Amino acid sequence: MTNDTKQKIRLILFGPPGVGKGTQAKILSGILGIVHISTGDILRQEVAGGTDLGKKAKSILDSGQLVPDDLMIGMIKNYLRSPGAENGFILDGFPRTVAQAESLSRLLADLGIKLNMVISMEIGRDTAIKRLSSRVACRRCGTIYNLITDNLEDPSRCGKCGGELFQRDDDKPEIIGKRLSVYESITEPVKSYYGKLGILRAVDASGTVENVTQNILSMVGSK
Ligand code: AMP
Repeated sequence: MTNDTKQKIRLILFGPPGVGKGTQAKILSGILGIVHISTGDILRQEVAGGTDLGKKAKSILDSGQLVPDDLMIGMIKNYLRSPGAENGFILDGFPRTVAQAESLSRLLADLGIKLNMVISMEIGRDTAIKRLSSRVACRRCGTIYNLITDNLEDPSRCGKCGGELFQRDDDKPEIIGKRLSVYESITEPVKSYYGKLGILRAVDASGTVENVTQNILSMVGSK
C-alpha cells in the first residue's frame, strides 16, 4: 500500500494502569507508522522540564489523581492538530474522563476526522498491581521492562541503549491502589461512552506482549 491509499488508523488504547497500554502503543506505532500520543509521557516531560504545566501537574501525578480536564483537553488539542498526527495516531492515557471523551469527539468533528476504534485492554486488578509494582522504564529511550518476566541481565540498565532504569514514583505501592481506584470510579465509565458509539472492542491483555500485539493488529485489520 502506498502512503496515499494506506488507511489512516486512529486508535485509542484504553484500560487500567498497568494493563500495558504504553508498551503496546510503542510497538504498534512502530509497526503501523503512526504517532503514539501518551498524555502520561507528555506530562512527565513537562514535569522534568519544569514548565508551568509541569509545576501544576507534579503533585497531582505524584498522588495518583487526575490532572484537571481543561488542562488535558488543551494539551491534546495541540497534539492532534500537529502535522505528526495527520497520518493517524494511537492515544494512550486519554481520554480518562467522560468529559474528556466528549471534548475529544467535538475536537475530532471540528478536524473532520473519525476514530476507527477504541480498544479496551482487559486484565484483573491483581495482575495490574503485579505489573505496576515490577515495572521499570529507561530514562534514555523510554523502553518499559517488567523486572519479574523480562529476565534482565542487569536490572539497573536498559538492554537496548544502556540507559538507567528507574521506577516511576507513582508505581510505588502506596500510590498504585489510589490510581486503580481512580480508574474504577472515574475512567471506567468512558468505556460505555464508546460502547454506545459502537467503536469499542475488548482484548484480553493478560497474555504475552507479542500475543496482545497480534490480537490488536487483527482487530485493526493490519495483520
Ligand atoms: P499514565 O502514564 O498514563 O499512567 O499517566 C500518569 C499520570 O498522568 C496519571 O496518573 C494522571 O495523574 C496523569 N494523566 C495522564 N493522562 C491523563 C488524563 N487524560 N487526564 C488526567 N490526568 C492524566
